[in-house]
Amino acid sequence: MEYFLSDKQKTIKSLARRIAEEKILPVRAELDEKEEFPWAIIKDLANADMFRIFVPKEYEGLGGGCLELCLVVEELARVCGGIATSFAATALGSFMLIDQGSEAQKQRYLPSIASGSRLAAFALTEPTAGSDALAIKTTADKAEGGYVLNGTKQFITNGGDAEIYTVIALTDKTKGARGASAFLVEKDTPGFSFGKKEKKMGIRSSSTRELVFRNCLVPEENMIGKPGRAFFMIMKLLDQSRPGVGAQAVGLAQGALEAAVDYTEQREQFGQSLISLPVVQDILAEMAIQVEAARALVYATARTVDSGASALTEGSAMAKVFASDVAMKVTTDAVQVCGGAGYMRDYPLEKMMRDAKITQIYEGSNQVLRNTIASQLRKRKAKTE
Ligand SMILES: Cc1cc2nc3c(=O)[nH]c(=O)nc-3n(C[C@H](O)[C@H](O)[C@H](O)COP(=O)(O)OP(=O)(O)OC[C@H]3O[C@@H](n4cnc5c(N)ncnc54)[C@H](O)[C@@H]3O)c2cc1C
Repeated sequence: MEYFLSDKQKTIKSLARRIAEEKILPVRAELDEKEEFPWAIIKDLANADMFRIFVPKEYEGLGGGCLELCLVVEELARVCGGIATSFAATALGSFMLIDQGSEAQKQRYLPSIASGSRLAAFALTEPTAGSDALAIKTTADKAEGGYVLNGTKQFITNGGDAEIYTVIALTDKTKGARGASAFLVEKDTPGFSFGKKEKKMGIRSSSTRELVFRNCLVPEENMIGKPGRAFFMIMKLLDQSRPGVGAQAVGLAQGALEAAVDYTEQREQFGQSLISLPVVQDILAEMAIQVEAARALVYATARTVDSGASALTEGSAMAKVFASDVAMKVTTDAVQVCGGAGYMRDYPLEKMMRDAKITQIYEGSNQVLRNTIASQLRKRKAKTE
């Protein structure tokens, strides 16, 4: 399929593919097995200016948009979903700063994110606030010189490895959604520590930790935007970031499709290659259709984000839901057509299947996002009545 990418976009995509194949492919299984953070790969990505892609030019970035970021995430995920997650989480942790940060905040943090010398993270989820994000309990009480944070964040990607955290906390417990604010918190801030490191089913080379805040004083100038605006900024941020999860899903599905074609071509049973069996061809063809449909939706949504359009919620949710469901189905079917070999850790497919699952869960579970899509449909219907 021709997606009419610009020369620059094609260069970015092929550079990301080269890094994935030359640097990530040889170590992905070991990093997954050891649940080890991919520091050497992060360095390779930084040296190739990959972290500059989503940072504006004024702050030492390359000024790319959602589509450029999706192209990189897709190519990384085609080889390793875990490393794609660690990379994408830095973009997620930077979006609010890029969109709503003060000039001083951007000057202070973005150049080091662009160079890849400091990773970022986004911290919203808490033990009692997952899908129901409005139930967060972490507080930020006004004090001399800033705000004092108390609370625990759970399941935070890049937790412990990132240096810069966008943390959501309640500055006014009485105001619900209008009582939450966003703060930039640096790793070595007194009162900020890390709790449990999660042991996960998939994306095991990415780190997922608890963040613990105990009387952690954050300077007033580290608040992003205005007090009480966090949830409005989060909605916008997730509209912009969900195509990235879709891209991760497309990359995973593409990797699984290619591995399944390779295996079924060389595996012989009943005197013929598996791929010459009509039933296997049927499964592979269906996988290819699904991957291409997901890619088309993700790219179209990323282009819509980059157009500056304001109504992004529905399309963004659709791209994430569709692509992640495709990734789960395609990776599962890929394991199936490869039989016992697909199930074994000597082959990449069982990892791809494990890695795909998270794309249906994070940045809004697919059930919650289907609720979101349905409520947009109802709103539109109400407007036409
Ligand atoms: C590996 C990993 C990395 C993550 N990284 C980050 C991160 O970097 N930053 C961050 O802030 N968070 C992060 N998260 C948190 C993630 O966004 C949440 O896990 C997700 O939003 C779901 O919340 P939950 O796990 O509490 O599930 P729950 O909210 O407890 O939901 C459990 C199930 O119930 C369903 N459900 C819940 N409410 C509804 C509803 N109203 N209608 C229909 N079904 C519903 C869900 O779909 C789900 O299937 C991460 C999670 C994981 C697992």
